[in-house]
Amino acid sequence: MAKEEVLSCSFCGKKKPETDLLIAGLDAHICDKCIQQAYGIVMEEMESQDTPSLSAELTVKKPIEIKAFLDEYMIGQTAAKRVMAVAVYNHYKRLLQAPSADEDPVEIEKSNIVLVGETGTGKTLMARTIARMLNVPFCIVDATVLTEAGYVGEDVETILTRLLQAADYDVEKAQRGIVFIDEIDKIARKGDNPSITRDVSGEGVQQALLKLLEGTVVNVPPKGGRKHPDQKFIEVNTKDILFIAGGAFSGIDKVIGKRLNRQAVGYGASIKEDQVDTGNILQYITPKDLKDFGLIPEIIGRLPVLSHMNPLDATTLRAILTIPKNAIIKQYEKLFDMDGIAFTINEAALDYIVSRAVEYKLGARGLRSLCEAVLTDAMFEMPGGEEKVLKVTKKYAADKINKSVLNQLKAAS
Ligand code: ADP
Repeated sequence: MAKEEVLSCSFCGKKKPETDLLIAGLDAHICDKCIQQAYGIVMEEMESQDTPSLSAELTVKKPIEIKAFLDEYMIGQTAAKRVMAVAVYNHYKRLLQAPSADEDPVEIEKSNIVLVGETGTGKTLMARTIARMLNVPFCIVDATVLTEAGYVGEDVETILTRLLQAADYDVEKAQRGIVFIDEIDKIARKGDNPSITRDVSGEGVQQALLKLLEGTVVNVPPKGGRKHPDQKFIEVNTKDILFIAGGAFSGIDKVIGKRLNRQAVGYGASIKEDQVDTGNILQYITPKDLKDFGLIPEIIGRLPVLSHMNPLDATTLRAILTIPKNAIIKQYEKLFDMDGIAFTINEAALDYIVSRAVEYKLGARGLRSLCEAVLTDAMFEMPGGEEKVLKVTKKYAADKINKSVLNQLKAAS
Protein backbone atom coordinates (compact mmCIF):
# COMPACT_ATOMS: atom_id res chain seq x y z
CA MET A 1 0.00 0.00 0.00
CA ALA A 2 2.78 2.33 0.92
CA LYS A 3 4.55 1.39 -2.33
CA GLU A 4 1.95 3.12 -4.50
CA GLU A 5 2.56 6.45 -2.76
CA VAL A 6 6.25 6.54 -3.70
CA LEU A 7 5.61 6.31 -7.44
CA SER A 8 7.56 9.08 -9.05
CA CYS A 9 8.86 10.26 -12.42
CA SER A 10 12.07 8.43 -13.22
CA PHE A 11 13.34 11.52 -15.09
CA CYS A 12 12.68 14.48 -12.80
CA GLY A 13 11.88 12.65 -9.61
CA LYS A 14 8.52 14.39 -9.07
CA LYS A 15 6.10 12.38 -7.00
CA LYS A 16 2.88 11.28 -8.65
CA PRO A 17 0.66 13.85 -6.79
CA GLU A 18 2.89 16.66 -8.07
CA THR A 19 2.26 15.70 -11.70
CA ASP A 20 -0.82 15.87 -13.89
CA LEU A 21 -0.04 12.52 -15.40
CA LEU A 22 2.45 9.80 -14.73
CA ILE A 23 2.85 7.15 -17.37
CA ALA A 24 4.24 3.76 -16.46
CA GLY A 25 6.82 2.00 -18.57
CA LEU A 26 8.46 -1.37 -18.00
CA ASP A 27 10.67 -0.37 -15.09
CA ALA A 28 10.16 3.37 -15.03
CA HIS A 29 7.67 6.21 -15.07
CA ILE A 30 7.52 9.51 -16.87
CA CYS A 31 5.49 12.60 -16.00
CA ASP A 32 3.61 14.90 -18.38
CA LYS A 33 6.18 17.70 -18.00
CA CYS A 34 9.06 15.43 -18.91
CA ILE A 35 7.11 14.11 -21.91
CA GLN A 36 6.62 17.67 -23.13
CA GLN A 37 10.24 18.50 -22.62
CA ALA A 38 11.38 15.36 -24.38
CA TYR A 39 9.01 16.09 -27.25
CA GLY A 40 10.54 19.56 -27.60
CA ILE A 41 14.02 18.08 -27.74
CA VAL A 42 12.97 15.53 -30.35
CA MET A 43 11.36 18.23 -32.54
CA GLU A 44 14.40 20.47 -32.27
CA GLU A 45 16.66 17.64 -33.23
CA MET A 46 14.50 16.73 -36.22
CA GLU A 47 14.34 20.32 -37.41
CA SER A 48 18.08 20.69 -37.29
CA GLN A 49 18.32 17.60 -39.47
CA ASP A 50 15.64 18.97 -41.78
CA THR A 51 17.43 22.23 -42.43
CA PRO A 52 20.05 20.93 -44.72
CA SER A 53 23.28 22.73 -45.08
CA LEU A 54 23.93 24.52 -48.33
CA SER A 55 25.93 21.59 -49.55
CA ALA A 56 23.16 19.12 -48.88
CA GLU A 57 20.48 21.27 -50.47
CA LEU A 58 22.34 21.86 -53.66
CA THR A 59 22.38 18.62 -55.51
CA VAL A 60 25.46 19.34 -57.51
CA LYS A 61 26.01 16.78 -60.13
CA LYS A 62 29.23 16.10 -61.94
CA PRO A 63 29.57 17.71 -65.40
CA ILE A 64 28.94 14.38 -67.14
CA GLU A 65 25.74 13.96 -65.14
CA ILE A 66 24.68 17.53 -65.88
CA LYS A 67 25.11 16.89 -69.59
CA ALA A 68 23.19 13.61 -69.33
CA PHE A 69 20.34 15.50 -67.66
CA LEU A 70 20.37 18.12 -70.41
CA ASP A 71 20.32 15.31 -72.99
CA GLU A 72 17.00 14.12 -71.62
CA TYR A 73 15.37 17.43 -72.47
CA MET A 74 17.44 18.75 -75.34
CA ILE A 75 18.54 17.37 -78.66
CA GLY A 76 22.06 18.03 -79.95
CA GLN A 77 23.99 21.20 -78.98
CA THR A 78 26.74 19.05 -77.56
CA ALA A 79 29.39 21.78 -77.48
CA ALA A 80 27.15 24.20 -75.58
CA LYS A 81 26.00 21.48 -73.20
CA ARG A 82 29.56 20.57 -72.28
CA VAL A 83 30.61 24.16 -71.70
CA MET A 84 27.45 24.80 -69.71
CA ALA A 85 27.90 21.68 -67.59
CA VAL A 86 31.42 22.67 -66.61
CA ALA A 87 30.46 26.29 -65.91
CA VAL A 88 27.53 25.31 -63.72
CA TYR A 89 29.58 22.71 -61.91
CA ASN A 90 32.33 25.22 -61.20
CA HIS A 91 29.85 27.85 -60.14
CA TYR A 92 28.35 25.57 -57.53
CA LYS A 93 31.74 24.34 -56.40
CA ARG A 94 32.50 27.98 -55.80
CA LEU A 95 29.41 28.25 -53.63
CA LEU A 96 30.44 25.24 -51.63
CA GLN A 97 33.92 26.56 -51.04
CA ALA A 98 34.51 26.23 -47.32
CA PRO A 99 33.96 29.43 -45.32
CA SER A 100 37.59 29.24 -44.29
CA ALA A 101 38.28 30.11 -47.90
CA ASP A 102 38.76 33.67 -46.63
CA GLU A 103 42.30 32.73 -45.83
CA ASP A 104 42.67 30.82 -49.05
CA PRO A 105 44.37 33.00 -51.65
CA VAL A 106 42.72 31.03 -54.45
CA GLU A 107 39.29 32.47 -54.93
CA ILE A 108 37.14 30.87 -57.56
CA GLU A 109 35.54 33.54 -59.71
CA LYS A 110 32.02 33.53 -61.04
CA SER A 111 31.38 31.67 -64.24
CA ASN A 112 28.59 33.68 -65.82
CA ILE A 113 27.80 32.44 -69.28
CA VAL A 114 26.96 33.92 -72.64
CA LEU A 115 25.21 31.75 -75.24
CA VAL A 116 25.21 32.90 -78.82
CA GLY A 117 22.78 31.36 -81.29
CA GLU A 118 19.85 32.03 -83.55
CA THR A 119 16.47 32.41 -81.96
CA GLY A 120 14.69 29.14 -81.23
CA THR A 121 17.85 27.06 -80.95
CA GLY A 122 17.29 26.27 -77.28
CA LYS A 123 19.19 28.91 -75.30
CA THR A 124 16.31 29.48 -72.91
CA LEU A 125 15.55 25.79 -72.75
CA MET A 126 19.14 25.10 -71.72
CA ALA A 127 19.09 27.65 -68.89
CA ARG A 128 15.66 26.50 -67.75
CA THR A 129 16.68 22.85 -67.73
CA ILE A 130 19.78 23.61 -65.68
CA ALA A 131 17.68 25.48 -63.12
CA ARG A 132 15.24 22.57 -62.98
CA MET A 133 18.07 20.17 -62.32
CA LEU A 134 19.63 22.25 -59.59
CA ASN A 135 16.30 23.05 -58.01
CA VAL A 136 17.10 26.74 -57.68
CA PRO A 137 14.91 29.77 -58.48
CA PHE A 138 15.08 30.79 -62.11
CA CYS A 139 13.85 33.82 -64.02
CA ILE A 140 14.04 35.15 -67.53
CA VAL A 141 14.48 38.83 -68.24
CA ASP A 142 14.51 40.58 -71.53
CA ALA A 143 17.46 42.92 -71.88
CA THR A 144 15.57 45.10 -74.34
CA VAL A 145 13.20 46.41 -71.66
CA LEU A 146 16.02 47.40 -69.33
CA THR A 147 17.06 50.99 -69.26
CA GLU A 148 19.29 53.18 -67.24
CA ALA A 149 17.74 54.42 -64.01
CA GLY A 150 15.56 57.38 -64.74
CA TYR A 151 14.60 56.46 -68.27
CA VAL A 152 11.29 54.97 -69.33
CA GLY A 153 11.48 51.23 -68.96
CA GLU A 154 12.60 48.88 -66.24
CA ASP A 155 15.53 49.50 -63.95
CA VAL A 156 18.17 46.83 -63.95
CA GLU A 157 17.27 45.98 -60.34
CA THR A 158 13.90 44.64 -61.42
CA ILE A 159 15.78 41.59 -62.67
CA LEU A 160 16.21 40.72 -59.03
CA THR A 161 12.57 41.43 -58.25
CA ARG A 162 11.69 38.65 -60.68
CA LEU A 163 14.17 36.31 -59.09
CA LEU A 164 12.81 37.09 -55.63
CA GLN A 165 9.31 36.34 -56.87
CA ALA A 166 10.52 33.05 -58.35
CA ALA A 167 12.01 32.23 -54.94
CA ASP A 168 8.80 33.11 -53.08
CA TYR A 169 10.69 36.00 -51.51
CA ASP A 170 13.17 33.66 -49.84
CA VAL A 171 16.23 35.89 -50.11
CA GLU A 172 18.68 33.10 -49.30
CA LYS A 173 17.31 31.00 -52.13
CA ALA A 174 17.17 33.89 -54.57
CA GLN A 175 20.81 34.62 -53.86
CA ARG A 176 21.69 31.22 -55.30
CA GLY A 177 19.35 31.40 -58.28
CA ILE A 178 19.90 31.59 -62.00
CA VAL A 179 18.96 34.58 -64.14
CA PHE A 180 18.63 34.21 -67.88
CA ILE A 181 19.10 37.54 -69.64
CA ASP A 182 17.61 37.20 -73.08
CA GLU A 183 18.54 39.34 -76.07
CA ILE A 184 21.76 40.62 -74.53
CA ASP A 185 22.85 41.49 -78.08
CA LYS A 186 20.16 44.15 -78.28
CA ILE A 187 21.97 46.34 -75.78
CA ALA A 188 25.15 46.34 -77.79
CA ARG A 189 26.51 49.75 -78.64
CA LYS A 190 25.27 50.72 -82.03
CA GLY A 191 28.02 51.85 -84.31
CA ASP A 192 31.52 52.76 -83.33
CA ASN A 193 30.83 56.35 -82.49
CA PRO A 194 30.85 56.73 -78.71
CA SER A 195 30.07 60.42 -78.96
CA ILE A 196 26.45 59.98 -79.99
CA THR A 197 24.09 61.13 -77.25
CA ARG A 198 23.67 58.55 -74.52
CA ASP A 199 21.79 55.61 -75.86
CA VAL A 200 19.01 54.82 -73.46
CA SER A 201 19.03 51.08 -73.85
CA GLY A 202 22.59 50.56 -74.98
CA GLU A 203 25.86 51.17 -73.28
CA GLY A 204 24.20 52.70 -70.21
CA VAL A 205 22.40 49.47 -69.50
CA GLN A 206 25.57 47.51 -70.03
CA GLN A 207 27.20 49.69 -67.39
CA ALA A 208 24.30 49.15 -65.01
CA LEU A 209 24.49 45.41 -65.52
CA LEU A 210 28.20 45.25 -64.73
CA LYS A 211 27.89 45.39 -60.98
CA LEU A 212 25.02 42.96 -60.94
CA LEU A 213 26.98 40.41 -62.92
CA GLU A 214 30.03 40.70 -60.76
CA GLY A 215 28.36 40.66 -57.39
CA THR A 216 26.99 43.50 -55.38
CA VAL A 217 24.36 44.21 -52.78
CA VAL A 218 21.28 45.70 -54.39
CA ASN A 219 18.23 47.25 -52.78
CA VAL A 220 15.46 45.52 -54.60
CA PRO A 221 11.92 46.86 -54.77
CA PRO A 222 9.98 43.68 -53.86
CA LYS A 223 7.09 44.45 -56.15
CA GLY A 224 9.18 45.81 -58.97
CA GLY A 225 8.43 49.03 -60.74
CA ARG A 226 10.04 52.33 -60.08
CA LYS A 227 11.76 53.04 -56.82
CA HIS A 228 9.21 54.60 -54.60
CA PRO A 229 9.99 56.32 -51.31
CA ASP A 230 7.30 54.33 -49.47
CA GLN A 231 8.40 50.98 -50.74
CA LYS A 232 10.53 48.85 -48.43
CA PHE A 233 13.53 47.36 -50.14
CA ILE A 234 14.92 43.89 -49.83
CA GLU A 235 18.69 43.58 -49.86
CA VAL A 236 19.92 41.01 -52.33
CA ASN A 237 23.53 40.07 -52.83
CA THR A 238 24.21 39.00 -56.41
CA LYS A 239 27.61 37.47 -55.61
CA ASP A 240 26.35 33.90 -55.95
CA ILE A 241 23.68 34.37 -58.59
CA LEU A 242 24.55 32.69 -61.87
CA PHE A 243 23.82 34.85 -64.89
CA ILE A 244 23.31 33.26 -68.26
CA ALA A 245 23.00 35.71 -71.12
CA GLY A 246 21.67 34.71 -74.50
CA GLY A 247 21.42 36.45 -77.83
CA ALA A 248 21.17 35.87 -81.55
CA PHE A 249 23.86 38.48 -82.30
CA SER A 250 22.50 38.70 -85.78
CA GLY A 251 25.28 39.65 -88.18
CA ILE A 252 28.07 38.42 -85.93
CA ASP A 253 28.84 35.71 -88.49
CA LYS A 254 30.26 38.47 -90.68
CA VAL A 255 32.45 39.71 -87.85
CA ILE A 256 33.71 36.17 -87.25
CA GLY A 257 34.15 35.55 -90.97
CA LYS A 258 36.20 38.70 -91.34
CA ARG A 259 38.45 37.72 -88.46
CA LEU A 260 38.87 34.18 -89.78
CA ASN A 261 39.80 35.55 -93.17
CA ARG A 262 42.43 37.77 -91.64
CA GLN A 263 43.76 34.83 -89.65
CA ALA A 264 43.79 32.61 -92.70
CA VAL A 265 45.92 35.00 -94.71
CA GLY A 266 47.96 36.43 -91.87
CA TYR A 267 51.46 35.44 -90.94
CA GLY A 268 51.45 32.20 -88.94
CA ALA A 269 47.82 31.56 -89.79
CA SER A 270 46.34 28.96 -87.47
CA ILE A 271 43.17 28.27 -89.40
CA LYS A 272 43.27 27.35 -93.05
CA GLU A 273 40.46 28.77 -95.14
CA ASP A 274 39.38 25.41 -96.47
CA GLN A 275 39.12 24.04 -92.91
CA VAL A 276 36.45 26.53 -91.96
CA ASP A 277 32.96 25.09 -91.79
CA THR A 278 31.14 28.01 -93.38
CA GLY A 279 27.76 26.41 -92.70
CA ASN A 280 28.17 27.03 -88.99
CA ILE A 281 30.52 29.90 -88.54
CA LEU A 282 29.29 30.65 -85.00
CA GLN A 283 31.36 27.76 -83.68
CA TYR A 284 34.48 29.92 -84.13
CA ILE A 285 33.17 32.74 -81.95
CA THR A 286 35.58 34.40 -79.53
CA PRO A 287 35.12 37.16 -76.94
CA LYS A 288 36.75 39.57 -79.36
CA ASP A 289 33.89 39.08 -81.80
CA LEU A 290 31.44 40.09 -79.08
CA LYS A 291 33.47 43.24 -78.55
CA ASP A 292 33.51 44.02 -82.25
CA PHE A 293 29.77 43.47 -82.25
CA GLY A 294 29.33 46.20 -79.63
CA LEU A 295 29.42 44.67 -76.17
CA ILE A 296 31.69 46.66 -73.89
CA PRO A 297 34.82 44.80 -72.77
CA GLU A 298 33.81 44.99 -69.09
CA ILE A 299 30.59 43.10 -69.79
CA ILE A 300 32.44 40.49 -71.81
CA GLY A 301 34.88 40.10 -68.93
CA ARG A 302 32.02 39.40 -66.55
CA LEU A 303 30.53 36.79 -68.84
CA PRO A 304 33.69 34.71 -69.08
CA VAL A 305 32.15 31.51 -70.40
CA LEU A 306 31.21 31.75 -74.06
CA SER A 307 29.46 29.12 -76.12
CA HIS A 308 27.39 28.86 -79.26
CA MET A 309 24.23 27.08 -80.31
CA ASN A 310 24.14 25.29 -83.65
CA PRO A 311 21.40 26.01 -86.15
CA LEU A 312 18.73 23.31 -86.10
CA ASP A 313 18.70 21.10 -89.20
CA ALA A 314 15.83 18.87 -90.30
CA THR A 315 17.18 15.80 -88.47
CA THR A 316 17.39 17.75 -85.21
CA LEU A 317 13.93 19.22 -85.66
CA ARG A 318 12.53 15.74 -86.32
CA ALA A 319 14.13 14.47 -83.11
CA ILE A 320 12.84 17.46 -81.13
CA LEU A 321 9.29 16.49 -82.07
CA THR A 322 9.37 13.09 -80.39
CA ILE A 323 12.51 12.36 -78.39
CA PRO A 324 12.95 14.77 -75.44
CA LYS A 325 11.30 13.85 -72.15
CA ASN A 326 8.60 16.44 -72.69
CA ALA A 327 8.62 16.36 -76.50
CA ILE A 328 5.79 18.19 -78.24
CA ILE A 329 4.19 15.00 -79.60
CA LYS A 330 4.34 13.36 -76.16
CA GLN A 331 2.49 16.37 -74.79
CA TYR A 332 -0.29 16.02 -77.37
CA GLU A 333 -0.54 12.29 -76.66
CA LYS A 334 -1.10 13.13 -73.03
CA LEU A 335 -3.65 15.84 -73.80
CA PHE A 336 -5.68 13.48 -75.98
CA ASP A 337 -5.28 10.63 -73.55
CA MET A 338 -6.88 12.75 -70.82
CA ASP A 339 -10.01 12.72 -73.00
CA GLY A 340 -9.72 9.00 -73.61
CA ILE A 341 -8.62 9.56 -77.21
CA ALA A 342 -5.90 7.37 -78.72
CA PHE A 343 -3.75 9.76 -80.73
CA THR A 344 -1.11 8.56 -83.17
CA ILE A 345 0.85 10.34 -85.86
CA ASN A 346 2.81 8.48 -88.50
CA GLU A 347 6.39 9.04 -89.67
CA ALA A 348 5.35 10.62 -92.94
CA ALA A 349 3.22 13.20 -91.14
CA LEU A 350 6.09 14.04 -88.76
CA ASP A 351 8.51 14.42 -91.65
CA TYR A 352 6.01 16.65 -93.40
CA ILE A 353 5.70 18.94 -90.35
CA VAL A 354 9.49 19.18 -90.17
CA SER A 355 9.76 20.05 -93.86
CA ARG A 356 7.24 22.86 -93.39
CA ALA A 357 9.12 24.16 -90.34
CA VAL A 358 12.30 24.24 -92.41
CA GLU A 359 10.47 25.93 -95.28
CA TYR A 360 9.04 28.64 -93.03
CA LYS A 361 12.42 29.04 -91.29
CA LEU A 362 10.56 28.87 -87.99
CA GLY A 363 13.06 26.70 -86.13
CA ALA A 364 11.92 24.61 -83.19
CA ARG A 365 9.37 27.22 -82.20
CA GLY A 366 7.64 26.68 -85.52
CA LEU A 367 7.14 22.99 -84.77
CA ARG A 368 4.75 23.88 -82.02
CA SER A 369 2.71 26.28 -84.19
CA LEU A 370 2.54 23.70 -86.98
CA CYS A 371 1.37 20.97 -84.59
CA GLU A 372 -1.28 23.35 -83.28
CA ALA A 373 -2.42 24.00 -86.85
CA VAL A 374 -2.69 20.25 -87.45
CA LEU A 375 -4.42 19.32 -84.22
CA THR A 376 -6.59 22.27 -83.15
CA ASP A 377 -9.68 21.06 -85.05
CA ALA A 378 -9.43 17.62 -83.47
CA MET A 379 -8.77 19.08 -80.02
CA PHE A 380 -11.87 21.21 -80.44
CA GLU A 381 -14.22 18.62 -81.88
CA MET A 382 -13.24 15.29 -80.35
CA PRO A 383 -13.55 15.77 -76.56
CA GLY A 384 -16.93 14.43 -75.49
CA GLY A 385 -17.64 13.00 -78.95
CA GLU A 386 -18.11 9.42 -80.14
CA GLU A 387 -14.82 9.10 -82.01
CA LYS A 388 -12.02 7.95 -79.72
CA VAL A 389 -9.21 7.37 -82.21
CA LEU A 390 -7.17 10.00 -84.04
CA LYS A 391 -4.65 8.83 -86.61
CA VAL A 392 -2.74 11.69 -88.19
CA THR A 393 -1.31 10.92 -91.63
CA LYS A 394 0.70 13.09 -93.96
CA LYS A 395 -2.45 13.95 -95.93
CA TYR A 396 -4.34 14.91 -92.76
CA ALA A 397 -1.43 17.13 -91.63
CA ALA A 398 -1.04 18.74 -95.06
CA ASP A 399 -4.77 19.50 -95.32
CA LYS A 400 -4.84 21.19 -91.93
CA ILE A 401 -1.65 23.17 -92.45
CA ASN A 402 -2.71 24.32 -95.90
CA LYS A 403 -5.95 25.64 -94.43
CA SER A 404 -4.23 27.34 -91.52
CA VAL A 405 -3.25 30.92 -90.88
CA LEU A 406 0.38 29.85 -91.08
CA ASN A 407 -0.11 29.02 -94.71
CA GLN A 408 -1.82 32.32 -95.39
CA LEU A 409 1.12 34.06 -93.80
CA LYS A 410 3.42 32.20 -96.12
CA ALA A 411 1.29 33.16 -99.12
CA ALA A 412 1.37 36.81 -98.08
CA SER A 413 5.09 36.94 -97.63
P1 ADP B 1 15.96 30.51 -77.77
O1 ADP B 1 16.00 30.88 -76.34
O2 ADP B 1 17.27 30.10 -78.32
O3 ADP B 1 15.28 31.52 -78.65
P2 ADP B 1 14.17 28.47 -76.87
O4 ADP B 1 14.98 27.80 -75.83
O5 ADP B 1 13.11 29.40 -76.41
O6 ADP B 1 15.08 29.19 -77.93
O7 ADP B 1 13.56 27.35 -77.80
C1 ADP B 1 12.26 27.40 -78.29
C2 ADP B 1 11.59 26.06 -78.15
O8 ADP B 1 12.20 25.16 -79.08
C3 ADP B 1 11.79 25.43 -76.81
O9 ADP B 1 10.67 25.56 -75.99
C4 ADP B 1 12.03 23.95 -77.09
O10 ADP B 1 10.80 23.25 -76.99
C5 ADP B 1 12.44 23.90 -78.51
N1 ADP B 1 13.85 23.58 -78.71
C6 ADP B 1 14.80 24.39 -79.21
N2 ADP B 1 15.96 23.77 -79.31
C7 ADP B 1 15.77 22.52 -78.84
C8 ADP B 1 16.62 21.39 -78.68
N3 ADP B 1 17.90 21.43 -79.04
N4 ADP B 1 16.07 20.28 -78.17
C9 ADP B 1 14.76 20.23 -77.81
N5 ADP B 1 13.92 21.26 -77.94
C10 ADP B 1 14.40 22.39 -78.45
